[in-house]
Amino acid sequence: MTPRVQALVVGGGISGLVCTYALCKAGLDAQLFEASPRPGGVIQSIAHDGFLLELGPQSFSGTAPLRALFQGLGMSDQLIQAPEHAPRYVLVDGALRPVPLSPPAFFTSLLIDASTRWALVRDLVGKSVPPEADESVAAFVRRKFSAQLLDRLVGPFVSGVYAGDPERLSLRSTFPSLHEAEKSAGSIIRGLLRAAKMKTGPREGPTLLTFRDGNETLIRALSNILGPSLHTGASITGISAQNDGSFSAQFEAHGASGSISTKSLILATPTDITGKLLSQLDSSFESLLAPIEYAPLAVVSLGYGINDIGHSLDGFGFLVPRSSGLRVLGTVWNSSLFPSRAPKGHALLTSFVGGATDPSAASLPAEALTSLVHREISPILAIAAEPVFSNVAVWPRALPQYNFGHSDRLAAAAKLLLNHPGIWLAGNYLRGPAIGSCVEQALAVADEAREALEK
Ligand SMILES: Cc1cc2nc3c(=O)[nH]c(=O)nc-3n(C[C@H](O)[C@H](O)[C@H](O)COP(=O)(O)OP(=O)(O)OC[C@H]3O[C@@H](n4cnc5c(N)ncnc54)[C@H](O)[C@@H]3O)c2cc1C
Repeated sequence: MTPRVQALVVGGGISGLVCTYALCKAGLDAQLFEASPRPGGVIQSIAHDGFLLELGPQSFSGTAPLRALFQGLGMSDQLIQAPEHAPRYVLVDGALRPVPLSPPAFFTSLLIDASTRWALVRDLVGKSVPPEADESVAAFVRRKFSAQLLDRLVGPFVSGVYAGDPERLSLRSTFPSLHEAEKSAGSIIRGLLRAAKMKTGPREGPTLLTFRDGNETLIRALSNILGPSLHTGASITGISAQNDGSFSAQFEAHGASGSISTKSLILATPTDITGKLLSQLDSSFESLLAPIEYAPLAVVSLGYGINDIGHSLDGFGFLVPRSSGLRVLGTVWNSSLFPSRAPKGHALLTSFVGGATDPSAASLPAEALTSLVHREISPILAIAAEPVFSNVAVWPRALPQYNFGHSDRLAAAAKLLLNHPGIWLAGNYLRGPAIGSCVEQALAVADEAREALEK
């Protein structure tokens, strides 16, 4: 007989894990199917030769919903926080310059010239109207501020956080608050200040967190709680609608195949898989979701003897403007941020290569990536010796790109879903790629699914 559950969640990355956890916590019979042998998706921490590496996200912002989740899981005491004012740098003219982190520091920063400063004043006192059509992040920054701001700060930030290409990223999808600020206040600065004033609840500082034993601690905690509700090595291969309004999902697990029937179906898979699975209900899903581009990334972790590095490594790390001609997008100084990331007398530095602006770089062989990163970061950090340790992790589809047309695709998919009550989407292509955004979205979906089941 086909097993029947109240909710089936597909995809055991952080989105699917949190959604299933919330459903189970609400007393529902929810089951999670994850195709790979280990849950967690791109969140993966490994200990090697005394180094603790993050192969995916290095840390995350401590948002209120995330902190509440950790508290509920009883794991707040395992959190560690990066030094609050750790400086971030950007490489300009071969030297690392601090990124201004406050409005006064920004206005007086040597990173921007008089014309950018004048553009900031013009925005503060003037009035502008955003164009009717969506704009790229690059076009927006050039229109409102300057090409220099794009090259030195916005571009490096966008490639560091989204692995994205500012010429193709949609402003409305990537930074909706900037678009809203201009639309509502006629000024980015006034609009952002007004939005900050209207924000209720406790103010969240820019805290960067991880767990003492790595980000995967969160995955282990969620997996342990889910217990037999989590099925790893179990891939969902097809979905069909039943006459009674429920769904039947076909799966392959450990060489066998079967099906499971469910009232609610939550797809927390990347868009190519989501589109394909839903195409069995309506082929338009695949044409809407599958073309969403994902940027590839190579994560190159290098360990050095601390005495072989001339730079103090006092801070978070640095970002690299594309105009520098380097292929490294940025480097995080893990062992400066968190204890126990490197053995005594050593430093761990993690660099990112590839992204939407240089996708072919992510598919270089591991040795080539290691020597490329070592070659490029050595003069910047005054590194005088070869790394004593290296690891390369490649994510061919690391991060979804919120490019032009992204919000239209999502809106059209949401409209189609209205014809299929009982199905929800979760994942990092919906409300932002950050772990905090994935968690918030997954919790919202769990709430909606629970409410629908309780009706
Ligand atoms: C290199 C890198 C660095 C990052 N850095 C940061 C950072 O510093 N801070 C931050 O907040 N965020 C960061 N992120 C982003 C964040 O980690 C991700 O957006 C988030 O973890 C994605 O979670 P997810 O569950 O939505 O998707 P995924 O992790 O992609 O999970 C999807 C899951 O679905 C499974 N699946 C696929 N097909 C099937 C199927 N047919 N049946 C069952 N299961 C299936 C997959 O195996 C996978 O486990 C980074 C991401 C990467 C890749």
